[in-house]
Amino acid sequence: MAEINIQNIVKTFVGSKQPAVNNVDLTVADTEFMVLLGPSGCGKTTLLRMIAGLEYPDSGNILIGNRDVTDLPPRNRDIAMVFQSYAVFPHMKVRDNIAFGLRMHHTPKSEISHKVEHAADLLQLTPYLDRFSAQLSGGQRQRVAVARAIVMEPSVLLMDEPLSNLDALLRLNFRSELKKLVQEIKTTTIYVTHDQVEALSLGDRIAVMRDGEIIQCGTPMEVYNDPATEFIGSFIGNPPMNFLRGQLRHENGRAHVAVGEHLLNAPAALAAGPDGDVLVGIRAENIQAGLQPIADALAARAEVIEPVGANLLVTAVVGDQRVKVLTRTDFPIETNGALWLQPEWDKLRWFDPATHREIAAT
Ligand code: ATP
Repeated sequence: MAEINIQNIVKTFVGSKQPAVNNVDLTVADTEFMVLLGPSGCGKTTLLRMIAGLEYPDSGNILIGNRDVTDLPPRNRDIAMVFQSYAVFPHMKVRDNIAFGLRMHHTPKSEISHKVEHAADLLQLTPYLDRFSAQLSGGQRQRVAVARAIVMEPSVLLMDEPLSNLDALLRLNFRSELKKLVQEIKTTTIYVTHDQVEALSLGDRIAVMRDGEIIQCGTPMEVYNDPATEFIGSFIGNPPMNFLRGQLRHENGRAHVAVGEHLLNAPAALAAGPDGDVLVGIRAENIQAGLQPIADALAARAEVIEPVGANLLVTAVVGDQRVKVLTRTDFPIETNGALWLQPEWDKLRWFDPATHREIAAT
């Protein structure tokens, strides 16, 4: 059992006014793959380094498998770490690089070769075992770093942007291999990235961080479909979630949100409150676009049309606001052409423009 419990962790670096990590609570279940996602400087690496024992918190506790490791050095935590820089020894053969940690632990020789070969097999490194690491590509070197970590059979695997030095295609391939690998070795994993696509594709859950705090923790689909704040809706997804300014009004016993001339039915949680400004969140793929006028649809003009492979990404102007819409590639829209937009009502999300937090989901 290697559940990780992070309890009320605070860390402020000397000379800094703001905490790098502020009151963070997080539970990572045994064998779960947790991604820490957030923009540069939000505290992801600091949090990971505290779990590793490379930094110590000012207050709070870290438990790994019910053992309080807060004050223990890294070697006593039963963790292994993979960094962005490959950190493999260039003048050592791949086999010796992978075996390095086991040798340090005085593991018997026969056991070492068996474990090294198994890890090499999992990471498709078998043909390279007798090469020097300096003779490997960046992708292969990062595989060696991962093999060196997993061969230790740690209770916890910590990874800090391990794919970010790889080129785009290699990154894509290695990403799915890493996911398969982690599913096979069944080790509790915490993975740091600022890449939302990587987070969505890899994580069982994603903890989204901002300014040292975790602002939402959920499955990839939860944070994508139901962002807790406007920031998360914008940060996760490409294109970002659309946010339209609207006004909640109660008229003739009915509550609706006016976006320009268009009226959207207000959800019960909003209808129960007073009139006021609202931000309406909707994903580009949840808006149906048509060329013929439709009652109740938003009248728009196609300002920019971008083919993005599987879809067209249309930037539409609605009144004085802009909305991104994804259509099929054969949608016969032309630049400046008129179109009518129908958001899928059950996909609308409602946010408070003052706090930027979600008020309700329909
Ligand atoms: P990135 O994606 O750029 O690595 P991050 O989310 O991992 O960013 P951290 O590296 O954890 O962020 O940094 C969080 C904050 O703490 C930043 O403001 C950073 O400048 C500060 N910080 C990090 N390490 C130190 C240090 N050793 N001394 C002082 N301040 C630090």
